[in-house]
Amino acid sequence: MIKVALAGNPNSGKTTLFNDLTGSRQYVGNWPGVTVQKKEGTLRRKKDVIITDLPGIYSLSPYTPEEVVTRNYLLKEQPSVILDIIDSTNIERNLYLTTQLIETGIPAVGVLNMMDLLEKRGDTIDIKKLSQLLKCEIVETSALKSKGSFEAADKAIELAKKQKTTIPQKIFADSLEAELLKIQQIIGDMVGQHQLRWYSIKLFERDKRILGELALSDNQKKVIEGIIKNYEKKAGDDSESIIINERYEFIGKVVKECVVKKNVFESTSDKIDKVLTDRWLALPIFALIIFVVYYVSVSSLGTIVTGWTNDVLFGKYIMGNLSVWFDSIGATAWINDLVVNGIIGGVGAVLGFVPQMFILFLLLSILEDCGYMSRIAFIMDKIFRKFGLSGKSFIPMLISSGCGVPGIMASKTIENEKDRRMTIITTTFIPCGAKLPVIALIGGAMFPGVVWMAPAVYFIGIAAVVVSGIMLKKTRLFAGDPSPFVLELPAYHVPSPRNLFMHVWEREKAFIIKAGTVIFVASGLIWFLSGFGFADSGFGMVGAESSLLADIGNIIAPIFAPLGFGNWKAAVATVSGLLAKENIVATFGVLFGLGSDVAEDNSGLLQELQSMFSFGGAAMAFLVFNMLCAPCFAAIGAIKREMASAKWTAFAIGYQTILAYAAALVVYQLSGWLGGHLSFGIGTVAAITVLVIMLYMLFRSNKYKV
Ligand code: GDP
Ligand code: MG
Repeated sequence: MIKVALAGNPNSGKTTLFNDLTGSRQYVGNWPGVTVQKKEGTLRRKKDVIITDLPGIYSLSPYTPEEVVTRNYLLKEQPSVILDIIDSTNIERNLYLTTQLIETGIPAVGVLNMMDLLEKRGDTIDIKKLSQLLKCEIVETSALKSKGSFEAADKAIELAKKQKTTIPQKIFADSLEAELLKIQQIIGDMVGQHQLRWYSIKLFERDKRILGELALSDNQKKVIEGIIKNYEKKAGDDSESIIINERYEFIGKVVKECVVKKNVFESTSDKIDKVLTDRWLALPIFALIIFVVYYVSVSSLGTIVTGWTNDVLFGKYIMGNLSVWFDSIGATAWINDLVVNGIIGGVGAVLGFVPQMFILFLLLSILEDCGYMSRIAFIMDKIFRKFGLSGKSFIPMLISSGCGVPGIMASKTIENEKDRRMTIITTTFIPCGAKLPVIALIGGAMFPGVVWMAPAVYFIGIAAVVVSGIMLKKTRLFAGDPSPFVLELPAYHVPSPRNLFMHVWEREKAFIIKAGTVIFVASGLIWFLSGFGFADSGFGMVGAESSLLADIGNIIAPIFAPLGFGNWKAAVATVSGLLAKENIVATFGVLFGLGSDVAEDNSGLLQELQSMFSFGGAAMAFLVFNMLCAPCFAAIGAIKREMASAKWTAFAIGYQTILAYAAALVVYQLSGWLGGHLSFGIGTVAAITVLVIMLYMLFRSNKYKV
């Protein structure tokens, strides 16, 4: 059994290589921090070779959760060999980790990845020389194009078979090496020969974990501390910085000898970035791009495909023909009704959005894979920082635009606990894929032709994040400086069709599976509850208005009356959204009969919706509430796992729902009053009070700011 560990900087292509080698489909994201936990797989065609994809790190000092995971794995599990993935377009920074990986004494092969980009730039790296200077084998790859991946794996296997450990070479100044040797003599046979260098350097850096690991006597500790103090005095720097400087010194020499940069001028990527990350242009461009994405996927192209699947495919062909077929085989009316109007009405209403979702996911994946989204995280870091949030919080949010569950999980990379909690609480404000059908349905019914509707909902999500960030940061629970955020901007590249397909498919698959399970059952249940109830003659089939569902809905509805949708159908839909947000659409599909007016070729669903909301503000309030309130159960589960505390989970759900309620109240009451739909009353006063309180919380001075 050979264990190969893939280690390297974030975004160097580890997961791409891992997928290539194992044939699995781990998430490849064009920003750091996507792989938080290690993933294992076996090499294709060689089942006795296990490959582990480790989280990306810049260094082996255990400061971030990723660094801890990677370091523990390397030191405790002792893989047979390390494949060190080096982004050859950022070789200086990547070699910093390389020098540390070699120090572990585990045999290592250096993988110069992204060679395609390097070649495009016209730069060259002298592999032979690099290999000599680092004293380790080097392979060139373009993992994205599956070039060289297996050669790299073969080299690693060969090396692992040849030797169990390596003795790392000396790379620091002689005076420092002499001191390290003294430390090595003290720890002598406490660790393996190959690990002596690693331990001596870590002890020199005063690494607490390593110090705790070794059973050093007080006297030995004193001697080591003396050695360090002495050298620090001589060098005029602290020991950790001394090691960092020495590493860069070595790397500088290596790069000077091996790398020839042809292009001293700025690359195309740099030129594009001048515009896209410009202080003034960045945000308007981002807004425009998001607008186009949502416009295309929700309003223009999206409406056409969804209209077709809902009205024609499901409404006319499937439901129409199925109904006729049921009649022809003499099925009882209620079976016909359950299947056609209940199950297909609900599931179909959701599945109708599959093509539309495809467009949205495809566009978002292109933005992500080509490298644009990392720029957005970079820009957002500057903005978020002003509010006390870090750009690290924005990455979970980007992921949440697909699905909140992985988004919440991505918050793991934030080491500051307060920031992490805040990110978990706010990340589901960004509309996920499942919310898209709701936006499209309500938008299409209530605001036909209003192209800014869908993008507006996205920006409401971002606004909710920013507003929450500002308000919460001024409270004791969340006060403090934001986490540091180092983000390398990867060079732009044409997205790989394989990656795009994988991203889109993963998301669509989850959506379709939900439609076939949760939505399927829920639609049947809603159909039953809305068709049966207690009448004078006892329990049986009744009209919807006197059904069990109406009874339940009417109990909850008053809660939503101040928000403008205090009718039982909207109330039931809102609650059903807890199962899955697209269930809101399924519920309307069952209640209003998807495509029930197919004959006249206009959807009954839209008309029914229009009559449900008294004016646009009520529909907007419905949308705002459902976008911001407690997410679906799956996401709530993820929140609970990441918070690892019932109290914090309750806080998150409570905060989200209260904020949603407050925002919807303000939207409905004030738009109604200002638009002349509602007269001034208690509701207006309540809305103004809420608004004033929120403004106060936003603008009061921050007494925790240092
Ligand atoms: P990780 O963070 O190290 O796991 O990196 P990923 O595997 O997620 O890759 C980061 C980004 O680099 C993705 O957008 C990949 O498509 C891209 N990428 C990976 N390998 C190559 C390569 O050899 N050439 C180019 N041009 N892009 C690559
Ligand atoms: Mg990865």
